[in-house]
Amino acid sequence: MSAAAESLVLRDARVGDRVTDILITNGRIVKMADDIRSHSDDVSLDGRWVIPGLWDEHVHFSQWALKTRRLDVSTATSARHAAQLVHDALAAAGPLAVDDDGRPLTFVANGFRDGTWPDAPNLADLDAAGGGAPIVLISSDLHSVWLNTVALELFGHAGHPTGLIRETAAFAIENLVNAVPDSVLDPMVNEAATDAAARGIVGIVDFEMAWNRESWERRMTGGFDAVRVEFGIYSEHIDRAIAEGLHTGQRLSELLTVGRHKVITDGSLGTRTAFCFDEYPGMAGQPDSRGLLVVPPDELAAHLRRSSSAGISPAVHAIGDAANTHVLDTFEALGITRGRIEHAQLVTDADIARFAALGVEASVQPEHAMDDRDIADTFWPGRTAHAFVLRSFVDAGVRLVLGSDAPVAPLDPWFAIASAVGRTRDGREPWHVEQALSAAEALRASTRTDVAVGEIADLAVVELDPFTSPPEALRAPTVAGTLVGGRWTHRTL
Ligand SMILES: [Zn+2]
Repeated sequence: MSAAAESLVLRDARVGDRVTDILITNGRIVKMADDIRSHSDDVSLDGRWVIPGLWDEHVHFSQWALKTRRLDVSTATSARHAAQLVHDALAAAGPLAVDDDGRPLTFVANGFRDGTWPDAPNLADLDAAGGGAPIVLISSDLHSVWLNTVALELFGHAGHPTGLIRETAAFAIENLVNAVPDSVLDPMVNEAATDAAARGIVGIVDFEMAWNRESWERRMTGGFDAVRVEFGIYSEHIDRAIAEGLHTGQRLSELLTVGRHKVITDGSLGTRTAFCFDEYPGMAGQPDSRGLLVVPPDELAAHLRRSSSAGISPAVHAIGDAANTHVLDTFEALGITRGRIEHAQLVTDADIARFAALGVEASVQPEHAMDDRDIADTFWPGRTAHAFVLRSFVDAGVRLVLGSDAPVAPLDPWFAIASAVGRTRDGREPWHVEQALSAAEALRASTRTDVAVGEIADLAVVELDPFTSPPEALRAPTVAGTLVGGRWTHRTL
């Protein structure tokens, strides 16, 4: 690379209420004016909008890349219907696929939502779906898997009565079916990241359930450069992270940053395992009728004491209101000042105030509210005024960040922004519209920089007015260009 500064001029860019030229040198915005002299690398934007590049603050990137290649059963309206979709896909695929040793490959489908099905996932339906192949269906929220008899034997659960396995055991099976060779996975990851850049994304927070440092350093050494990556660290890898001297916010390379310590304390709404103060309807007297506290407070405290003393900040999954209370209690007891709660789907008013008082970030996924509004009305009756809140957080002064939790929802921040602003999808009546954000607030929660002199040139060029367009337009804008540190990662201009 030459010693001379590398410059780029974006001409006639609309930023807020003005049209200006933007001079970018060595990856930063160094001047915004309408009299910037010509450079060799001039790009005319013809008044298109320039906004800060978008971040998806919660993804499982390998799973997202894999999901794009798998059968999607999210449209199934019953267990029988889901099994039928699997049957049809297997029949269409022809002869049973086998590995090098002649063993049948596991058939994996994603996205089932049994929360509102009239029948329950069961062995008989799934066994009838396909001859011989192990079949694994992963639920839309990832908190349960549904296996046929062959798969139960393969994954160590022979004799299981229904084939429906939840939480920690489900995650273990997902990790096994997702363990494809790097040589197969990495090209899929590259492709998914290129697609992300084309949506205006400049960064992702990856909570893949793996030792993510290694995966991302390998990919970046191999040329991956489409987005910035901040990676999470699960409890089983915390000792290793500390031994390697990692701390939150540490830059390992231009695009790779150390993220947070991820702990999953409770389950999910769809699986009725989110840990709540109230019982789930119809579950009175049953075990786990209020959900499942996978990591109780004393255990959480032990985990977080260790990581926070090493400078690794927490990102704790808590969905139910009681789980959120426990996590806030733990942050408070340990004096954690830069905590973050992932999902925060059901939160009491008192706890919203505590998020603000303790400086805890709320990392939420507005598109989940659209996916789960009916399930929330069913499983959290009378409490949905406190479910998937956005406005309440902002008004209380809580720092809010938006994500997709891909593969749970598609990796596209515009879906999150549109849902946050409109609280609706597919023309339905808005759901709890009193919790809507303005487009400016939703964008603020989806970005980490500003379009201003001195800022890193992480930018997106969009074909619509992102501040006044209706929610359905915000769901699918044309992104004309994306820059990461002043380098085009997507460009149609
Ligand atoms: Zn997640």
